[in-house]
Amino acid sequence: MAQTPAWPPASLTRLFIDQPLADGVTVLIEGGQAHYLSSVMRMKAGDHVALFDDVSGEWSARIEQIAKRHVQVTIDGKIREREEVPDLWLVAAPIKKGRIDWMAEKACELGVARFQPVITRRTVVDKVKIDRLRAHMIEAAEQCERTALPIVEEEIKLGKLLDDWPADRMLIFADEQGGVPMAEAAKPGPAAILIGPEGGFTDDERAAIKAIPQAVGVSLGPRILRADTAMAAAVALWMALAGDWR
Ligand code: SAH
Repeated sequence: MAQTPAWPPASLTRLFIDQPLADGVTVLIEGGQAHYLSSVMRMKAGDHVALFDDVSGEWSARIEQIAKRHVQVTIDGKIREREEVPDLWLVAAPIKKGRIDWMAEKACELGVARFQPVITRRTVVDKVKIDRLRAHMIEAAEQCERTALPIVEEEIKLGKLLDDWPADRMLIFADEQGGVPMAEAAKPGPAAILIGPEGGFTDDERAAIKAIPQAVGVSLGPRILRADTAMAAAVALWMALAGDWR
């Protein structure tokens, strides 16, 4: 008979707290996060949680008082410093609602530093709900044990993105019409992976992207991947070849 998993789970419940954390600080946790600790995780006074603020790293905190919508904790030790995240940006055309949420969550778990939505000719989504994407990435960061949150930017048009492209950053362009293998493109150093919308890139866009000196067209194989699949495949390849997967 398999052992029922121990409760509470071995690893500490982790929460992102959007205020500066330090040893001995008392934090009042309210709303959805308090509900999660009290009703979902059924935590009690004396239990510990892990808190991180995306600045100072991750801290242990002891629950002093706990009610449905209010939990008061006191920080009682540092667990670890804020980690260094590989300098990889995901630049992707917004895709349909459920899929872009999945894309944001997986990009966070896979380790991207910044998510820059880009509007292209065939982008079907006109307004990107940035707050919702941020919320998905925070939740993913709590689960995957990041202490550094990805930056989520407001969407910009492809032309402006290319006009302002940073000279020191490689632009790895996932081109459904083919390119070099990722093994040839992925090198340590500042980089970005560009993924198109469900309808792909137009020929004019492809030419404009390739006109950028830092751009490298990359193939993700002979099959046409959905944009969210392409993102996960490309970021995973880059992380394994040039990121922090070792
Ligand atoms: N509808 C288009 C494909 C769009 S796929 C067509 O049929 O041509 C959405 C995005 O995923 C593409 O713009 C590209 O960035 C990426 N992608 C999908 N398959 C790929 C592949 N085999 N190689 C490189 N990039 C790919």
